[in-house]
Amino acid sequence: MKKFMETSRRSGMLGGVVFATMLCATLGLMLGPSRGQNPSPDDWKVDPLRGPVDLGLTDPSLVGAIDVHLHVDPDAPGTGGTIRALDVFDAAKIAISRGMRGFVFKTHQDAGSAGEAYMVRKHVAPSFEIFGRMASNYATGGINVAALEHYTQIKGGWGRIFEMPTRDSITATTRPGSMDPANLVKTRPWMLMMPSETPPYIAVSRNGELLPEVKHLIGVMAKIRTVDSNGRMVLATGHATPEEHLLLAREGRQQGLNVLLTHPGDIPQLPEAARLGAFVELNASGIYKTEAGRAAAAALVRKIGAEHIIVGTDCGQTSNVYPTDCLALAARGMRAHGVTQRELDLMYKVNPAKLLGLPPLEETVVSSTIGGRVASSVRSISPFGERVGVRGPDLARDPAPSPGALRAPTSPLRFSGWSFPEMEVDCWEFITR
Ligand SMILES: [Zn+2]
Repeated sequence: MKKFMETSRRSGMLGGVVFATMLCATLGLMLGPSRGQNPSPDDWKVDPLRGPVDLGLTDPSLVGAIDVHLHVDPDAPGTGGTIRALDVFDAAKIAISRGMRGFVFKTHQDAGSAGEAYMVRKHVAPSFEIFGRMASNYATGGINVAALEHYTQIKGGWGRIFEMPTRDSITATTRPGSMDPANLVKTRPWMLMMPSETPPYIAVSRNGELLPEVKHLIGVMAKIRTVDSNGRMVLATGHATPEEHLLLAREGRQQGLNVLLTHPGDIPQLPEAARLGAFVELNASGIYKTEAGRAAAAALVRKIGAEHIIVGTDCGQTSNVYPTDCLALAARGMRAHGVTQRELDLMYKVNPAKLLGLPPLEETVVSSTIGGRVASSVRSISPFGERVGVRGPDLARDPAPSPGALRAPTSPLRFSGWSFPEMEVDCWEFITR
């Protein structure tokens, strides 16, 4: 009847293991959605009124990946009134079905993502590494230590990335006409309701220096730990100017924080920021759609090195493909321009885990067959060795899942343990060298 067969077993650290070939072979045998794994670019074009469908794309880069930039519901509409295509529960279920290790739910205007991360961990998958990311905009009180303190104390302590101004940053005001009421009503309608003396943006720097309140906030961020899970905060630079990205990276690193440059683009400050140990965010939403985007991403990898880059999607809106499909398409696009699987693994898996202070994965490749169908499971083990959760169909416990249960391919990797119980940043140096 059923056959549970381990076809291969290896273990080692993520960065040092070559598993793409085996993964490709296994994933290729899996049952995918009827659309298949090679949708035409027409399938990527999303009608924002109807939103995307799940293309069901798989890629070795997704297995163990953590997407650090996801816009999902519950949230308010984004710029231009674009709504979110799916909610955080559905996004987690889809990500899990593709073998992902986690994602970061970003909201621009509230602290809700920390609570949502708690809910997903409790009611969807305890081992799915979901975190929250919130920004410092008018709705959260601008540069605001009280908002930071509150965010860290929401049950579970999964709000981990605290970001400088985005929607209300200086860069929201610099385009010609950006402060015209006809424009604001689409981009920042609250500005039309605020008292007229309200500054047009939330400042972070003046005369080439960070404002004292920004330095103070960063100082608090470096010391505070999250409730329950005792996590450290990560500083994201927000929609800053090129100079501010570097100022924030320098201050954050000096204070001992992990720093993420929020999709800065190819600015001259990148090499210096990378030298300081900040990570550069590269958004898959800007990679997958065009040949120019794919080529530019590959060029950036060659220029500053994959060890300094983190790919996040900035997807989840009705105007983009689903975040998982976005990751897969971006990986394929970069691969076509010469980016290696090792580099993709750094940008999709190793670096996001470092940023968030997660232990590296030690992995065991396991693939199984049930009634002639290839399936797989991904298990998570806590730093102390006990099993804390299961991703994908658990064949050992549920040996005969219903046919539909295997529709979405899952990962053939089993996370069998951790190398380091300590989560201090320093130990990461060992992993990448
Ligand atoms: Zn975004």
